[in-house]
Amino acid sequence: MPLQFRFVTSAKRHVDLPESPCEIAFVGRSNVGKSSLINALANKRQLAKVSNTPGRTQLLNQFVLPTGGTIVDLPGYGYARVPGKELAGWQRMIEDYLLEREELDLVFVLVDGEIGPTKLDLQMLDWLRDNTVPHTIVATKLDKVRPSKLATRKRDLAKAAELDPGDVIWVSASKGTGIEHLAHLVQSLLTPSA
Ligand code: GDP
Repeated sequence: MPLQFRFVTSAKRHVDLPESPCEIAFVGRSNVGKSSLINALANKRQLAKVSNTPGRTQLLNQFVLPTGGTIVDLPGYGYARVPGKELAGWQRMIEDYLLEREELDLVFVLVDGEIGPTKLDLQMLDWLRDNTVPHTIVATKLDKVRPSKLATRKRDLAKAAELDPGDVIWVSASKGTGIEHLAHLVQSLLTPSA
């Protein structure tokens, strides 16, 4: 079953987002496949814009499920063509959200399964660990990983995140692999306890 979430609002600062009973966030490098994944979870084409110009989505985008739980799509980090000053602004927006958003229960860090963890991914994972922000990894573009490389890639990714290989969620937005599993997880995380 696709997640029945709808767009609520975009904001520059997390304090401008509506309150929520429980919230999860998606974060990842530009072009990691974040918009495609959000669209696949909702089974909609244009919910989160799939952009050919990575780095365009510069705001915190909030979506809500019928349960009242919310999802925040954080701006993609690490797009080289962004001017330095703007990059710092983004970083602050993301970091402030991750550190100060009280409603935040879990961050899904997207890593490109084909490429493996990049330096920026590792920085983000270290930062989350150092700041004890609860997080887990979603590896994207499973369909692009050569079968002969899959076992090694799974091990490397888990090691980078200091997780067990079984704890990394693998998806392909293109093929739909793993989408239902992740949708279930999101639905259960975003169902407020009575
Ligand atoms: P974002 O910048 O993280 O939102 O990434 P997008 O969702 O815009 O995707 C970046 C590029 O990767 C696009 O060309 C997508 O078509 C492609 N892509 C995303 N997910 C997948 C996937 O599961 N498999 C494959 N083969 N390509 C994907």
